[in-house]
Amino acid sequence: MILSVAIPSPAGDSFEYLPGGDQPGSLQPGQRVRVDFAGRALTGVIVAIRETGDCPPDKLKPVKAVLDSEPVVPANILELLERVARYYHHPLGEAIFTALPARLRQHLPADGEDPVVWRAASDASLDQVPRRAYQQRALLERLQAAPDGLPVETLRLHFKDPRALLKALAERGLVESRKAPVGSLPKNGTPNQSGPVLNDEQQAAVDALESDLGAFQVSLLDGVTGSGKTEVYLAVIETVLARGGQALVLAPEISLTPQLERRFRARLGETVAVMHSALNDTERFRAWRAASQGEAKVIIGTRSAVFTAFKALQLIIVDEEHDSSLKQQSGLRYHGRDVAILRGQLTGCPVILGSATPSLESLNNARQGKYRHLRLTRRAGNARPPRLHLVDLRRQELAEGLSRFLMERMRVHLGQGRQVMLFLNRRGYTPLMLCHECGTPVDCPRCAAHTVWHAPINQIRCHHCGYQARPPARCPSCGEPELVAIGLGAQKLEQVVRSCFPNEPLIRIDRDSMTRKDDLPRALAAIAAGEYNIIIGTQLLAKGHDFPNITLVGIVDVDQGLFSTDFHAPEKLVQQVIQVSGRAGRGDEPGEVVMQTHQPEHPLLRQLLCEDYAEIATGQLLERAEADWPPWAHLALIRASAPKGEAAMEFLEEAARLFRDAARDEVEALGPVTAPMTRKAGRFRFQLLLRAPKRGPLHRALDQALPAIRKLKTARRARWSVDVDPVDMM
Ligand code: ADP
Ligand code: ZN
Repeated sequence: MILSVAIPSPAGDSFEYLPGGDQPGSLQPGQRVRVDFAGRALTGVIVAIRETGDCPPDKLKPVKAVLDSEPVVPANILELLERVARYYHHPLGEAIFTALPARLRQHLPADGEDPVVWRAASDASLDQVPRRAYQQRALLERLQAAPDGLPVETLRLHFKDPRALLKALAERGLVESRKAPVGSLPKNGTPNQSGPVLNDEQQAAVDALESDLGAFQVSLLDGVTGSGKTEVYLAVIETVLARGGQALVLAPEISLTPQLERRFRARLGETVAVMHSALNDTERFRAWRAASQGEAKVIIGTRSAVFTAFKALQLIIVDEEHDSSLKQQSGLRYHGRDVAILRGQLTGCPVILGSATPSLESLNNARQGKYRHLRLTRRAGNARPPRLHLVDLRRQELAEGLSRFLMERMRVHLGQGRQVMLFLNRRGYTPLMLCHECGTPVDCPRCAAHTVWHAPINQIRCHHCGYQARPPARCPSCGEPELVAIGLGAQKLEQVVRSCFPNEPLIRIDRDSMTRKDDLPRALAAIAAGEYNIIIGTQLLAKGHDFPNITLVGIVDVDQGLFSTDFHAPEKLVQQVIQVSGRAGRGDEPGEVVMQTHQPEHPLLRQLLCEDYAEIATGQLLERAEADWPPWAHLALIRASAPKGEAAMEFLEEAARLFRDAARDEVEALGPVTAPMTRKAGRFRFQLLLRAPKRGPLHRALDQALPAIRKLKTARRARWSVDVDPVDMM
């Protein structure tokens, strides 16, 4: 008997071993084993058991131990992961370990027995360890970074003899061991709320979705913000629960939207478990176990929850399906929505994709009849859609980017005791120089491209050809002398707003001000409680929060999204403006949205004023068709970076040659070129884009070329990755 064992290693999908160790039961795929791999003891997962292997058995080593009596990765999840690893061209072992909760990655028992973990004593300090005891110091440091504690097994991955080190540290009273109980999830009490009476559109959606139960079918629930999509989810989930089933709800970042969790708990009489980034390992494992044992009936989670094992999964919901944070941007670069659809197909259950601004891909699938298209066109209850204004910034006197009109509207809304939100659209976009008179950006004289402004050295640069110069004294288009940089920072804006509104309590929400895990949830709760009147924020604020007292939203720099080199930018800009606008006036008061721009004639902004999302999306789909972008083409992006640019470039050039050989005219290999963000953390970045009209040839080319590419000498000198269906070209 030969075991194929997947190991978290980029070296390959699986490796062969012989049975061995103490076997708690019969051997099955999905059980974890300890193996010796290139001199290190690692945890792997059995993915197949065969009569014969590829290597002669006398060359194979036995596994050192079998860790589980039952598979921790059930057969259906193993199949899902195999499909996902193949689709994203990622090693299977790494894919499996991405999907497992940390506790299972680490070799702790899966049956929930309380394991012993070691923790640093609360008053321990490194000074108490003798200077020369490097290993003890390193171990103590590691424990101090793990407040939940670590088992010896994990420490053994980093230290030769952790027990001896722990003993020495324990004698000084610097570490202590304890049992880490897993415990079980709190049971939900009787629900204390009943849902509203559904309106006709909601009821029609619920009827259609309920008729799907028991078979695979994807539905796009396309409903404007506040139209009551969540009520539709709840109604269908209630039916699933009544049939003894379980439901999985994926959302972009639920630790940011505790409302969703609270609403589910208040309404459903069954146990609801959440899985998100703010949980510690034990909490995450507890939720994972509760789902796989059937104790939790509803799991609400971020993208990785799509790999959770269930006992009786009958429904999958992907909320805010357009949100790019559903796509993992490192390691196994999977899209939570697309994996959810694959999972629905393998499970034979319906998948609901919900959004007020569906991705162009999903909308196109719905329009072509691949998905069922359900629409909610009205806001539920009394809420009315917000009024939109476009403010022409050209020639205006600005207080650091704030127009007089926006300040006046702020004064009016604040005067009525309302909250105001100022939204900055920054990450992922590049700073530009524009003419304050006519709005024309400063272009590269050699390329059809805008230059990028590098503020610290006051230079404009072209990221295509390398052109660099001082910013021109006058606008090359109209000759006026005033050029302005767009891309104001949140801190700068905060200063200005504080000086204009010194008596209004203000909070700024961005990655710099929200550094600790609970900063953001706490800030959001304070905003909801009305502790702040002015809220300044970036992307973090655009996600589905519900603040009924915010009646004015100012989008300070809508132009940022108009000049990106990423073809996704217009779609993201429109989604963001509509999502942010949806934050205004969810209560009884109608909301108001002010967009500031130097491009008042820009077609996309004009469309935002007078067209709805469906119309704008139609235009965007046409533009994508003309340029041969998805959904009309399929992409894979090969990124490479290195401290010395040439190393990454050389690698990509060789890779491009191998792709061209493998592709035979069916796949274009575009590049390599410098990445839009040319340098990050001291590494120069380049990319190669593969494009094909059909998925099949693209994947065949990847399958054929990647093994050879992995063996290239230059592949070792660059850090590189494959991104299938990239959502971000930066
Ligand atoms: P969405 O998920 O589409 O943004 P929600 O489901 O959160 O919308 O609904 C928005 C608000 O309208 C919520 O406060 C919800 O309780 C309320 N609501 C939803 N459906 C109805 C309905 N049929 N009657 C009255 N209020 C409703
Ligand atoms: Zn000009």
